[in-house]
Amino acid sequence: MTTQLTHISELIQTQGYRLTAAREAIITALVQTGGHVSADELVEIVHQAAPQVGRMTVYRTLDLLCELGCLRPVYQGTGAAHYILFADGHHHHLVCRLCEKVVEFDECLLRELEERIGRRFNFAIEGHLLELYGLCGDCQGRDAVG
Ligand SMILES: [Zn+2]
Ligand SMILES: [Zn+2]
Ligand SMILES: [Zn+2]
Repeated sequence: MTTQLTHISELIQTQGYRLTAAREAIITALVQTGGHVSADELVEIVHQAAPQVGRMTVYRTLDLLCELGCLRPVYQGTGAAHYILFADGHHHHLVCRLCEKVVEFDECLLRELEERIGRRFNFAIEGHLLELYGLCGDCQGRDAVG
């Protein structure tokens, strides 16, 4: 968690932005959530630690982090976007289609694919969100019963 915080803080500064107290509070809150949060949920969390940080500042900081490539909005269904952290360029999920549990995992075999696809489409790939769907251990039995 601390490394993600350091990474994002450094990224902001190397891109020429100031790491204000408000931005730091917002990034800290974001990293604490594990990076799965809607803008409004994040506003609530930030306000618990730093009540002086305004809603618009949270929104603008989310936009900035998206621009810098370490955060992406993900739209699921009709609800508000959820933001997912890409502090080191990628993010992986196992998603259970029955209980909708989400498991995070770190193993990555996609760097070679990124390079190959990037060359083929002349696309400077900066990261990926990988979601693998199926049934978790608890749900594998339940599916058969229906
Ligand atoms: Zn499940
Ligand atoms: Zn995740
Ligand atoms: Zn990956």
